[in-house]
Amino acid sequence: MTTYSDSGLRKPARGQRSNDMRRTNMSMVLRRIMLSPGETRSETARALGLSAATGTNLVNELIEFGLVRELEPKTGVLGRPGVPLAIDGRRRAVLGIHLGPRTTGVAIVGFDGTEHVSVLVPHAGVPAPEALEMVAGAARDLVADCPAGVSIVGTGIASGGIVDRRAGTIVENPVAGWRDVDVRGQLSGRVPEPIIVEQNARAAAQSELLYGYGKTASSFVLMVVTADVGSVSVHDGIIRAGYRQSAGNIAHLKVTERAIPCDCGRSGCLKAVATDDAVERMAAEAGLAEVPEFADIVTRAADGDPVAADVLGRRSRYVGRAAAILMDIIDPEYLVIAGTVAETPQYLDMVRAEADLYADSASNASARIVTSLSNEMSLTLFAATTIVAAALDDPVGHLSTVDDAPGAR
Ligand SMILES: [Zn+2]
Repeated sequence: MTTYSDSGLRKPARGQRSNDMRRTNMSMVLRRIMLSPGETRSETARALGLSAATGTNLVNELIEFGLVRELEPKTGVLGRPGVPLAIDGRRRAVLGIHLGPRTTGVAIVGFDGTEHVSVLVPHAGVPAPEALEMVAGAARDLVADCPAGVSIVGTGIASGGIVDRRAGTIVENPVAGWRDVDVRGQLSGRVPEPIIVEQNARAAAQSELLYGYGKTASSFVLMVVTADVGSVSVHDGIIRAGYRQSAGNIAHLKVTERAIPCDCGRSGCLKAVATDDAVERMAAEAGLAEVPEFADIVTRAADGDPVAADVLGRRSRYVGRAAAILMDIIDPEYLVIAGTVAETPQYLDMVRAEADLYADSASNASARIVTSLSNEMSLTLFAATTIVAAALDDPVGHLSTVDDAPGAR
């Protein structure tokens, strides 16, 4: 980090300062419209403490940028009808890529989160460089098929395992068997830029910030339970990645004394008892006929099969114990649960009850455990959200690299 003595500090030139201010204000206005759609120009300006003239100018620029659009005017009000605003998902879009261990989802997603077109690329057992070649080919075809008038302003890529967002690499994805994969390097020049490579759970937390609990709370912990387990801590709207960018690794939290082996060599880890795979294994051990897949176990439990219901209940209690530990350590406003546990809300009460048993009794843990509001979104949409968030932070800077942005030539 560079430090300056007081006398060495140089004030930015006046033009520079007003330009920075404009960029900051534009980011604020765009974020406000994202989080509170339906407000008029003057309502948005008032909420942000800006003058009506400044607010109007900024909104007009955002409309010119293709990021904001006007909805039908509000009628039935005295005076001039106000024009409500919303994010424009029709002109600006993002390429979202969820690099799965066996199948990769590629989609073109509007800035408002709507999906334009998508394709799945199966690559089970294919080494990373070849799999990325297949993904690049599918992305090229999809971009070529993109509806006219939509411009793609970047590519957001998400993967499981440990992802170094700064370097744009997958450090390790044990499920896929990938190590040290230079994703950004290999896709650079072949997909719309900039390219952001992010970890699945952090991308999900970014989506929760923009489309879910982030609308009402700026500090929460997201816990994802699917084929893998992970958590992300969001504090004051900032996603904490950690020193090694592997913060929130809860896979090997010990949640039971039972001798259930984990692939790390120890036993009783959350990963060994709470993932979808673990549920399948527990179901097989409990004698559930024909060793069904996870979705079948959920269906059977819903149909009244006591063995299937018992296995899902056990998993929910283990998730509750891990949730209790996170609640006690981080003390978030909400603990947001995403993934397959959130898709079976009948088990959420078990998660809550177990969290109350294990967390500090004064913490009122169960009342703060909720299910994700962006749970309907796919991992491909989560991937795309990383670019949307970057553009919200600095719409001018982000879009000035796009050919058809106003003023760019
Ligand atoms: Zn373990």
